[in-house]
Amino acid sequence: MTACAHPGAPAPPKPPRPHSIILLIGDGMGAAHVTRARALRGKDFQIGRMRTTGLIMTASANDEVTDSSAAATAYATGVRTNNGYLGVDRHGKKQRTVLEAARARGMATGLVTTAIFGDATPAAFSAHHLDRKDRVAVAKQVVTCGADLLISGGLDTLMVPLEELAPIGGYTIAPTLEAVRQARGRVLAIWRSSPLDADFADAPLPAIASAALDRLSSDPDGFFLLIEHEGTDSASHMHDGKALDAALRSFDETVGIALDYAGTHPGVLVLVAGDHETGGLQLLSDGGIAWGTEVHTGEAVPLFADGVGAAGFGGVHENASIGQALLRLVDDQHTQLRDGRQ
Ligand SMILES: [Zn+2]
Repeated sequence: MTACAHPGAPAPPKPPRPHSIILLIGDGMGAAHVTRARALRGKDFQIGRMRTTGLIMTASANDEVTDSSAAATAYATGVRTNNGYLGVDRHGKKQRTVLEAARARGMATGLVTTAIFGDATPAAFSAHHLDRKDRVAVAKQVVTCGADLLISGGLDTLMVPLEELAPIGGYTIAPTLEAVRQARGRVLAIWRSSPLDADFADAPLPAIASAALDRLSSDPDGFFLLIEHEGTDSASHMHDGKALDAALRSFDETVGIALDYAGTHPGVLVLVAGDHETGGLQLLSDGGIAWGTEVHTGEAVPLFADGVGAAGFGGVHENASIGQALLRLVDDQHTQLRDGRQ
């Protein structure tokens, strides 16, 4: 098209686009949480390996302080919406998600969280609903989103029994990580939740990330993978410093898995972000912590990017710009592939 518009002039080279995207979200993870992770992890701090940094403004469409559904909808669809809404704009109109765009381009897709099945962050990528609390309706939508891989907690509190839920979307139930690796077709793995959405007893998040990458990486069209740690948020609501530290260690280790994968597989973009800050976390001079609130706060959250296309994520962003950028990357990469084949 460019060549027709400017006959004789070579088309300007497009910036490189990632083949695959790994988005890691620490729910409720503000700058103080990341600083705490650095203190805990020392020289093993994995987020510190990421070479591009940014800052995300987190307000939702109807509140200076967002909840996780509006925050994730901004990342998933590029549209800022009201608290409580999933995958729709503030008027309730359904919005295309990054997961849907990736699927339409033939990419493999996966949603991984330590939260319960159908919880806000993954649900914003896979459902369209005005009420995140309508758990039955949301769960049934999530399971029909067509993702190759759905992994979460909440086996003990499922509103729809697992044996009923899985067939709705044509999923095979995988009770272990080994089963996740070996299953054919779509895989649904739901563990019993741990207190405060900590790592599952027999499937820590870094090991799940590893299995998910194994599983999705065989697709020649690339993949989009969302990995969320919910423990950072839950521990911050409950002011549980020990649980927070465990969640931060696990999340940072998971980031390391993603970065190692990107280091050995060309064309991968890794993004790490919070969706909002929780708890008003304060770091004290004696190395201890204190809390300012039991709810979310409206402060900006840090963003980290590395790999192909990372440069576009430096600087200050509105939360919805992240979703817009992700949609552009998914759409453009495949336009480039198609042009390349002509
Ligand atoms: Zn929260």
